[in-house]
Amino acid sequence: MTQIIMATNNEHKLREIRQILDGRFEVLGLSNIGCHEDIPETSDTLEGNALQKARYIAEHYGMDCFADDTGLEVDALDGAPGIYTARFGAMNGYGESHDAEANIRCLLDKLKDATTRRARFRTAIALIKNGEERLFEGIVEGEILHEKMGTDGFGYDPIFAPVETGLSFAQMGPEEKNRISHRGRATQKLAEFLTSGYEKDTL
Ligand code: IMP
Repeated sequence: MTQIIMATNNEHKLREIRQILDGRFEVLGLSNIGCHEDIPETSDTLEGNALQKARYIAEHYGMDCFADDTGLEVDALDGAPGIYTARFGAMNGYGESHDAEANIRCLLDKLKDATTRRARFRTAIALIKNGEERLFEGIVEGEILHEKMGTDGFGYDPIFAPVETGLSFAQMGPEEKNRISHRGRATQKLAEFLTSGYEKDTL
């Protein structure tokens, strides 16, 4: 089976992509190829960060690979936190980096007097295959809720409600979330590209 690397150690992301590629590719994570380095992410765009991670693996390990980067873009904050989504709370004096509770408290405080709560999650996936680079994008439009709803998921899930459903991401099961989410949509596009021209039975 054709192997491809996903530049992540996040088991949740690996499970999601393996489910979508449905056995047509063998997706390996960074630990599977013995990569334990901290891959630099210093770009000022999601696309730039995804490309930087994918290029690092292609250059250092000589294998086809893809990488993703996600940001939450809030209209009332002029598109912030964007590339700083994981560290938003810490950057504003709320807890540690990657602390979901701190990020949520920070965002709710910032939006206390906002006149719009419109926001979107955006994912960029960069693929390097046979030396060629491609980008895929997934977007889900929604609103930032006034308080947390639901207990599933991770990150900002309890306060983000996609327009399609009226429920927060944390009130949905993983399948329903993957179907409409930013990462699910970008991953679906990647999967269509990777599998176009291939018949499932021939792999
Ligand atoms: P990453 O680029 O996938 O690591 O995402 C950056 C940050 O965005 C994460 O640390 C989370 O805080 C947030 N995030 C990404 N995807 C989701 C999601 O599906 N739900 C809630 N928060 C997310």
